Amino acid sequence: MLNIGCHLSPSKGLLAMGKTALALGANTFQFFTRNPRGSRAKPMNAEDAAALMAFAESHAFSRFLAHAPYTLNACSASPETREFAEQTMADDLSRMEYLPGNYYNFHPGSHVGQGTEKGIQMISDLLNRILRPEQHTVVLLETMAGKGSEVGGRFEELRAILDRIVLPEKVGVCLDTCHVFDAGYDIVNHLDDVLDEFDRIIGLSRLKAVHLNDSKNQMGSRKDRHEKIGQGHIGLEALVRVSNHPLLRSLPFCLETPNETEGYAAEIALLRSHFIE
Ligand code: FE
Ligand code: FE
Ligand code: ZN
Repeated sequence: MLNIGCHLSPSKGLLAMGKTALALGANTFQFFTRNPRGSRAKPMNAEDAAALMAFAESHAFSRFLAHAPYTLNACSASPETREFAEQTMADDLSRMEYLPGNYYNFHPGSHVGQGTEKGIQMISDLLNRILRPEQHTVVLLETMAGKGSEVGGRFEELRAILDRIVLPEKVGVCLDTCHVFDAGYDIVNHLDDVLDEFDRIIGLSRLKAVHLNDSKNQMGSRKDRHEKIGQGHIGLEALVRVSNHPLLRSLPFCLETPNETEGYAAEIALLRSHFIE
């Protein structure tokens, strides 16, 4: 069975979000841990979290993803901005302990002219300060489009971050199809080569989840504008090859396409209909 879901809002509660996922035909999902612009988070409702965990288990959901606010920058030039990212992520990870065994995805950051090396060091240093041996969440570095000074547009950059992590079993990677395509990896014509390269540089065992998105722009555009499945430059066929690929097919796939719930339900059904059991 294809493990697929979409980005959802937890605004009506965690259990309600799980029920919405199920109603859309999903068996996984992703949600922002707080307002995506990074404001204060509501305290975690332990009862609601336990209800979501039981619901996900009883409906055979795969692991799901929380997404850090995309405005955090672990490698900002400003110490205050880095400190804010650190506090927010540490707080999110302690809240994620109410949802044990799932993933916490984040954008590595933008080095804003300090250089990729410096960025890599700041990101890994931050992770090393917040990761705990006893935590039950694996933090995922998202592959980025390489827009502006983003770190993580090249597999080598993610590898360099992973190499500096003191608790490597607590950190993995989430591959975003729109981002890698925009970064110049040809997943349309050479998916096997891209996965080979991923395996050689990062190691496929570190790949824990996929963001399944089409792209409004051409390969290598470094733009990061998501498109609906089949309406962009990646196209349905290539995305179906991704979701069916023997090395990927058991991972959780999450849609982050420009859709409301009905559009997501249709894309989930479409991708399920193309999944070869
Ligand atoms: Fe993201
Ligand atoms: Fe993404
Ligand atoms: Zn994106």
